[in-house]
Amino acid sequence: MSRKALDELKQQVPLLDYLQAHDWRPIRRIGSGRIMGLCPLHTDHRSSFLLDPRKNLFYCYGCGRGGDVIRFAELYHQVKFLQAVALLREWCGLASLLDQVIDFYRLQLFRHQDAVSYLSDRGLHSPEVIEHMRIGYAPGRCLRAWLTQLGYPISALRQAGLVNAEGRDAFTHRIVFPLEGNLYGRSIRTSTPHLFLPGSKGGLYAWEQVRRAPEIILVEGLFDYAVLWQAGFHNGTCSMGNHLNARQFQQLCDGPRTVYLTFDSDGNQSGQRAAQWMSRRLWAQGVAARRVSLPAGQDPNSFFVQGGDAHQFQNLLEAAHP
Ligand SMILES: [Zn+2]
Repeated sequence: MSRKALDELKQQVPLLDYLQAHDWRPIRRIGSGRIMGLCPLHTDHRSSFLLDPRKNLFYCYGCGRGGDVIRFAELYHQVKFLQAVALLREWCGLASLLDQVIDFYRLQLFRHQDAVSYLSDRGLHSPEVIEHMRIGYAPGRCLRAWLTQLGYPISALRQAGLVNAEGRDAFTHRIVFPLEGNLYGRSIRTSTPHLFLPGSKGGLYAWEQVRRAPEIILVEGLFDYAVLWQAGFHNGTCSMGNHLNARQFQQLCDGPRTVYLTFDSDGNQSGQRAAQWMSRRLWAQGVAARRVSLPAGQDPNSFFVQGGDAHQFQNLLEAAHP
């Protein structure tokens, strides 16, 4: 393999992106844009891992290992050099494949009136929110043909989870939201459970856009996020479920802020219980948490769909208690 090909691969995979895709998080920033965090290569309690995103290099003061993204992949996956290169190529391929898929689904949305009507029934009217969230529609029975025509082998589509074992599109009649390294699909016809591609659901939704806000509104669902954004609350994020994975929880704790927990007000109290538990965990980490009480049986989406407005929601935020 040529030196040039290796340099190109390293440029295509920013080490920071690769680390974050593997659930690493920055803990503190030091000079010259460098970042420290826990070392993913050994059991680390002191943020020994130094990342220089500009040079695309890492070094760990704990285990003494360091190098470029290929070296990182070798150590992290415990593979030899050539296998690490292959893994990184595959990772790049998935990212560009998902970009193609998202573009294709976004085009489909406006060709399918039933999908647009569904969004409208869920309270999403503004083209801005559809654009902002890059919402698309998967009609089914057409993605495979499109990607095959672009030259993607069926094996790659199957491996990514876009095509099922029978060779059919995995996402059918679903509104599709792009996530970090994944897709979330919500059926417009049946109450079939939502669908993710295999792999992690990733971190908090649109985290980079809100992480510097002093107050953050955390919701369970992407339709909740969408109506809030549309109503002018641009400091929202979403955990896709009321159970946060470790990375999402760490994100909420990575700086001083107030988190408004706006989970569903379920009849069986599951949202309320989750919010209570989350509130205690956040306070224990020094993060101010407030629980927002929605009217019984409602979630933020239904609150707005049933006529609630920004002013009323603001009142709920102000009435929130720890
Ligand atoms: Zn280490």
